[in-house]
Amino acid sequence: AENDRENMFALNDFAMRYFEKTLKETADGRDIGLSYFRYRGISDAMIEKFHLGYALEGRDALYKTAIERGYSEQYLISTGVCNRTDDGRVYDRFRGRVIYPIFTLAGKVVAFGGRTLSSEKKIAKYVNSPESDIYLKRRELYGLFQAKQAIAKAQKCILVEGYMDVISMHQAGVCNVVASSGTALTVEQVRLIKRFTSNVTLIYDSDAAGIKASLRGIELLLQDDMDIKVLLLPEGEDPDSFAQSHSSSEVEAYISEHETDFISFMASILMDGAASNPTKRAEVITRVVKTIALIPDEIKRSVYAQECSRILFMDEDVLRREIGKYYNEFR
Ligand code: ATP
Ligand code: MN
Ligand code: MN
Ligand code: MN
Repeated sequence: AENDRENMFALNDFAMRYFEKTLKETADGRDIGLSYFRYRGISDAMIEKFHLGYALEGRDALYKTAIERGYSEQYLISTGVCNRTDDGRVYDRFRGRVIYPIFTLAGKVVAFGGRTLSSEKKIAKYVNSPESDIYLKRRELYGLFQAKQAIAKAQKCILVEGYMDVISMHQAGVCNVVASSGTALTVEQVRLIKRFTSNVTLIYDSDAAGIKASLRGIELLLQDDMDIKVLLLPEGEDPDSFAQSHSSSEVEAYISEHETDFISFMASILMDGAASNPTKRAEVITRVVKTIALIPDEIKRSVYAQECSRILFMDEDVLRREIGKYYNEFR
């Protein structure tokens, strides 16, 4: 089995180099893939750093090359680089897409994300490698391999949603950034971050889905005793679009000026339109109280009770009592 895993990593490594070479050395790679990265404002340095690539449109371009080079079909299938039809024919999973390899903490390629260049709604925007013996989605964080030193140095990890968010932030000189890649943040991912720092800043897309994901992320991070800040980008922006339209110093200044603690974030998101309605106000305060009750550390809970009282104009003793009640209920 160990040998199988090694063979799967070797196959993924071959596929990554094949996608990189295709991007740079084929006509379609340059005209379609590279043009797309140019259009997205991605520099050559970032293409190198993140080993970005391109998958040709043909049904089995990679499959044929891999077999020619002596790789066995078994690993093309088990890694999910290729897929088999019901009648037994093998074809490339990624076709006509730009490729984002996903690395483990140690720098091995476990999976790929492939983005369509078409804006047609019918076509899935991203295709990802399936889970396998070497790839469990919940255990990986996109960009961690490239970001880990910066995270340790800054004692802060910025968490974003997508591949492009990570890459554009790096390009803007903000390198302590990782992505949960569109899935809900997991305990395993939080533990990975915790190996380097306990400070996390969430910068999710400024849309309904991003806000919902932030609220869920806050709860998960608090339970693991992480210190959280949240940054709300201007409406309709994501970290990629923001980093691409601002200078490095503007991005850094924006982060340090606009990141807030999670209570202020929850208050501003949830109180929007609810402040003058007593029932709704009470619901929001209860929601914040329940969130504070997730924090394992008593002193931190107490500090946040104070903060909550200040921000939501609510009697501190009442808040403390309620937080204590939910804290005990959750244990
Ligand atoms: P882009 O800027 O290129 O449009 P994005 O990262 O902003 O990409 P989002 O739609 O915000 O795209 O999605 C965030 C992340 O969620 C993606 O980077 C990807 O990791 C993941 N994702 C989105 N859609 C899918 C999908 N259909 N299948 C798998 N993963 C997806
Ligand atoms: Mn989004
Ligand atoms: Mn996005
Ligand atoms: Mn985007």
